[in-house]
Amino acid sequence: MHKLLTSNLKLGIIAGGQLAKMLIQEASKWDIDSYVLDSEPDCPAASIASHSILGSYRDYDDVYRFGKMVDLLSFEIEHVNVEALIQLKREGLRIVPDPRILELIQDKGLQKEFFARHGIPTAEFKTYGSAEAIRGGIERGEISYPFVQKLRKGGYDGRGVAVIQDAGSLDSLLHGASLVERRVEIDRELSVVVARNGKGEIKSYPVVEMLFDPKANLADMIICPSSVGSEQSEKALSLAARIIEDLKMEGVLAVEFFVDQDGEVVVNEMAPRTHNSGHHTIESVATSQFEQQLRAVLDLPLGSTQLLLPAVMVNIVGDEGHEGPVRYEGVEEILALEGVNLHLYGKKITRPYRKMGHVTVVSASLADALEKAKQVKETIGVKSWKHS
Ligand code: ADP
Repeated sequence: MHKLLTSNLKLGIIAGGQLAKMLIQEASKWDIDSYVLDSEPDCPAASIASHSILGSYRDYDDVYRFGKMVDLLSFEIEHVNVEALIQLKREGLRIVPDPRILELIQDKGLQKEFFARHGIPTAEFKTYGSAEAIRGGIERGEISYPFVQKLRKGGYDGRGVAVIQDAGSLDSLLHGASLVERRVEIDRELSVVVARNGKGEIKSYPVVEMLFDPKANLADMIICPSSVGSEQSEKALSLAARIIEDLKMEGVLAVEFFVDQDGEVVVNEMAPRTHNSGHHTIESVATSQFEQQLRAVLDLPLGSTQLLLPAVMVNIVGDEGHEGPVRYEGVEEILALEGVNLHLYGKKITRPYRKMGHVTVVSASLADALEKAKQVKETIGVKSWKHS
């Protein structure tokens, strides 16, 4: 079993983006020695990790060698070389979440089959091996318009998702093994971050509402608490708890939901890690999602998920038309607003819509937090020194 907290407990984190960086910020409070594996020497987590190891999380040898350096292993991304993780586990390394969870979640087809098997409500779906097979399915009358195609593997932030309205948009079909699902008439998108430790203790964070930027295909704002009705909110909370229990998963899991025009709550997808929709927990909840991840990884009691203050989180993304070394505008103005908490991830290069940081606005009044969040969005600029 793993060592409990000591001054030289080595926590390995696979991939060194902002999620790893925020996890390390918590880990350093507990005097944990952090190791990060990433192929970029100046990835966000590298500036604060105790040890940065260069290598690819998709490569068997890199992941295996990295695992041999640490006492415990977790990750901030799901697309990790699972074979290496399975071997490391066989050799006795504690890996949280378990590699079998990653294997399931890396494939959107397996994920949906899991929901179906466990009676979790989700948009009806069918899997196809290729774009050609989807055309065949349409000809046989198995698929009707409009529908949503999702690549089974490798998609993120809306990449790997195509909405096909009618026969005229079939040219937009993506190539590769896919899942085809009914297009949901979405009223709102919700998310619940839930954690479970090895003793089976489960704690869920309050339901948040995600507002999307259609151009960036990214959650633009996260609102907590969400204004969704209590029936829907309880449904989302109970589904999230059921899923993590059915998975018998240790760690942090984000579950995304659609609420349709009839008020039905269906699960969209899940991620076995901390999530953009949980960043506000750093300032607004008793225990942040990153500390919760640490508690789960170490199999410690989970922390309180009580909301201390309403919060709105705004992603800071690269401005359109700007690519190159980053410079931020409007920082002084937004920091003059009470309740504004700025996080810059430390990415040296900006690109249009690249996630560069976030701001969480907390306030005793959600309306006030929303108003200030809008101001932040209008004021902050993410430019490059050189126009592209
Ligand atoms: P990713 O893993 O890339 O985030 P998602 O499955 O979350 O992909 O899809 C991205 C977005 O596409 C969703 O947030 C939603 O707005 C839209 N979308 C996905 N599935 C459906 C669906 N079945 N019906 C309608 N819209 C959908």
